[in-house]
Amino acid sequence: MENIVILTGAGISAESGLGTFRDEGGLWSQHRIEDVATPEGFARDPALVHRFYNARRVQAAAAQANAAHHALARLEAAFAGQVTIVTQNVDGLHEAAGSRRVLHMHGTLSGALCAACGHRWTAPPEMAPGHPCPACKAPAARPDVVWFGEMPYHMEEIWDLLRGADIFAAIGTSGQVYPAAAFVQDAARAGAHTVEINLEPSAVVSDFAETRFGKASVEVPRWVAALLAQ
Ligand code: NAD
Repeated sequence: MENIVILTGAGISAESGLGTFRDEGGLWSQHRIEDVATPEGFARDPALVHRFYNARRVQAAAAQANAAHHALARLEAAFAGQVTIVTQNVDGLHEAAGSRRVLHMHGTLSGALCAACGHRWTAPPEMAPGHPCPACKAPAARPDVVWFGEMPYHMEEIWDLLRGADIFAAIGTSGQVYPAAAFVQDAARAGAHTVEINLEPSAVVSDFAETRFGKASVEVPRWVAALLAQ
């Protein structure tokens, strides 16, 4: 049985209206990463960080999966082997499109996490500093997203998957955030065929055996059709 592991980044959701890090005028461009995506930023100004993620949560809830998300869901349903999506995205668009094997290595906007006891629950649309944890009652609710300087989720499982991968694809990711940027090397070392699908060459493009440049909504359905025709 063949194993396909697919890493996705902000670029796959760009055509659903969710801005990438680099989009001008987007949510990310209005804030410094150190202020809204680090534990230190949250300690300094939790109200600002909650406002930032509240806005992203509202935006993501209104977004629709695009042709790239749908193509990956089709691949999982039709492929004879196993297809796993490892996403850096905190939106829920892979699940909305029907993908079932999805690992959110950077957490999700739909989740809340207690910084005191580690309890997890469904985030309300609006979070604010001092909201109590439903389990331990500490006023320590935070978004269940992984910030810079924190350990991404599911890493042991992801490394196991990469070691057993026959095909590894990276879609819509700039290759600048580790450890995800090194997955291509892990997969190649294990003998996988590696494919980059991106608007433009990523920082780690030279590590890939095959490249497909263009919009995810065009290139991902094309790649999936080629795989399923084999
Ligand atoms: P990034 O912003 O660094 O890079 C996005 C990449 O997508 C770029 O290489 C760009 O060329 C490419 N791209 C842009 N539009 C595209 C399109 N239409 N089709 C194909 N490719 C396109 O994003 P990243 O690599 O995912 O950065 C990692 C961090 O960004 C993660 O921590 C992630 O949590 C965070 N992030 C997530 C979201 C989201 O959940 N939707 C949005 C912004 C940032």
